[in-house]
Amino acid sequence: MGPMTPDERLRSYRLKRRTEQSGEPNGSSATAPHEGLPRFVVQRHDARNLHFDVRLEVDGVLVSWAVPKGPSLNPADKRLAHRTEDHPLDYLDFEGRIGEGYGAGTVIVWDIGTYDNLTLVDGEPIAAAHALAKGHIKVELHGHKLSGAFAFTHTRMGGDEANWMLVKVDDDAADRRRRPTSTQNESVLTGLTNSDLEADPLP
Ligand code: MN
Repeated sequence: MGPMTPDERLRSYRLKRRTEQSGEPNGSSATAPHEGLPRFVVQRHDARNLHFDVRLEVDGVLVSWAVPKGPSLNPADKRLAHRTEDHPLDYLDFEGRIGEGYGAGTVIVWDIGTYDNLTLVDGEPIAAAHALAKGHIKVELHGHKLSGAFAFTHTRMGGDEANWMLVKVDDDAADRRRRPTSTQNESVLTGLTNSDLEADPLP
């Protein structure tokens, strides 16, 4: 068995939703090549429970975590990050209102940008997919609201295989006062908020 293809990795994404009804991307462009650094997105998803979806582009898909409180710039904050199904690359700039069904609610692009994989093992850089498989990845984000290094660690807290922890690395971009998840709730793409989208007609 070789590594899974993006199509294979998106099987769970596609099984969970009917994209022709929800208006979400179906991932048909998941394997489209692009130049430069891998990308990341943080989406603010006002669903049954408000949360932030943090996604990193890795090998043709968006590796994803739902972070209930969202990322913090304070290295003292440990944020629960629940690993969810890989998403297609065309989810990167998805905003809208998802109707009844899985994930029903509104989604805005809260932050978007590129990242560098900083993960080292025994002082040597390792690929993002390998770092994830080992349960620890350190990335430097180049976004509008988020910058500097963040670390994801697979904690399996409470015996839940999906539980990871997201922590700001203590670097120049760490900030113990600024709380963008409270004070900057608009989309970096459109300036819209989740509540602006509640009035949207469904697709
Ligand atoms: Mn979500």
